Order: sequence, then C-alpha cells, then structure tokens
Amino acid sequence: MVESDPLILCLCDSVNNINQTNLTNIMIDLHTHSFFSDGALVPAEHLRRVEVLGYEAVALTDHADSSNLDFIIPRIVQAAADLNRYSKALLLPGIELTHVPPEQMAELTARSRELGAQVVVAHGETPVEPVKPGTNMAALEAGVDVLAHPGFLTVEEADLAVKNDIFIEITGRKGHSLTNGHVVRVAVSAGAKLAVNADAHIPSDFLTKEMAEIVALGAGLSLERYQQLRADMSAFVRRVSS
Ligand SMILES: [Zn+2]
Ligand SMILES: [Zn+2]
Repeated sequence: MVESDPLILCLCDSVNNINQTNLTNIMIDLHTHSFFSDGALVPAEHLRRVEVLGYEAVALTDHADSSNLDFIIPRIVQAAADLNRYSKALLLPGIELTHVPPEQMAELTARSRELGAQVVVAHGETPVEPVKPGTNMAALEAGVDVLAHPGFLTVEEADLAVKNDIFIEITGRKGHSLTNGHVVRVAVSAGAKLAVNADAHIPSDFLTKEMAEIVALGAGLSLERYQQLRADMSAFVRRVSS
C-alpha cells in the first residue's frame, strides 16, 4: 500500500467540499401549488419566483381527484411548454392526488400520466388531516413518484417505497411537518429515497437553499444523506425531462 501524500489528501478534501457544496446548491422542489387549486400564483409568476431563488426545477402539483385532473394537467403541460422556453428554472407538470379513495389511487395515477403529468404526488397520511388509512400503501403500490407528508410512515411502507423507487417526502409545510423526524428515521433505516419539498402555496412558502437544508437536518438527516437526497432529486428531474 502506498503511503498517502498529505498534499493529495488535502486536494481531495477540497474537491469533496466543492462537490458537497454544489450538491446542496441544487434546488429542486417536486411539490407546489398554483391557483389551479389552493395556491396563490399563476404558473408564470410561480416559475419566476423560483428562478430568482436559483432553482433548477419546480413541479406544479395542484390538488386533484377524478373531478379535475383533466382540467388541471393539460393547462400545466401547456404552461410548461410555453414558459420553459424562456426560463432558467424548469417547470415540471404534475398533480397531487388528494384525499382520493385508496382504491382509486392506481387508476388516477395512470390517468394523470396519460394526461401528461411528469410528477405524480400522493397526499399522504399527514397527522393533521383525516386522510383515509391505507392511502400511503395504495399510493406506493400505484407507483406514484412522491409520497408527500406520510405521517407515521411504517417500515412496510418504507420498504415498498424502496422497491418501487418512490420518494418519501420531508415537508417544509407547517402541521404536515410534525412527523418529519419519524419519517426520516424510518425512511433512512429502510434506505428509501427522500425529497425535501416546500408544498408551497404562497410566495413566502418557497424554501431557500438554506431553509431546505434546515428542514432536512432539523428532521435528523445527516449532511451526507442530505447531499444524497439532492443528487437523487436531480437525477429524477433529468430522467423525467429528457
Ligand atoms: Zn398534500
Ligand atoms: Zn400539497
């Protein structure tokens, strides 16, 4: 074994630091709302707000059930096609399946994808709303992209998220965030992919990169695991937008 050269070690440390800094600078959010549901902004302003914050990409995932999927998704697809020509931040058309009966989750996930949703979020079993038990499991079985605010995530749910390559969300949203620490503990021990999302409804909800890091580390994630989270979110965006 060759003895390590201190200078090389030093240079490697510098390179690692640069890589780590770059990773935590990649801002992506896979779960936000416009006025197509209960958000405040038109998609153009929504995208401009995150472009100014230095985001790489944002998904617009308005609340939907079977009544309004076909109203929302084509309009966000159109907005993305128009706005992405002029923006450094990428708008990803998506949807958040919200309080849909667990039995309908698979059918509505498939319909959302047919309509052009690149990001399907499931409104999980948050501790602050009466989301029907079984929703987390149904969403994971349906193959959504993100299980949002999953509340008291179980080990079985985390294992299924790993098997189906689904993000488990650490949320920046008040109330939903009460179980973030539990979510991180269960998801990390299962080896699940994690995403930090603002679930933004109004401009002040968007997370800066500093706040996103606080949400993740405050929930118990290590800095190294947070860098992995950023790399995973970035790889997802590259895959769905290519
Ligand atoms: Zn939600
Ligand atoms: Zn939401």
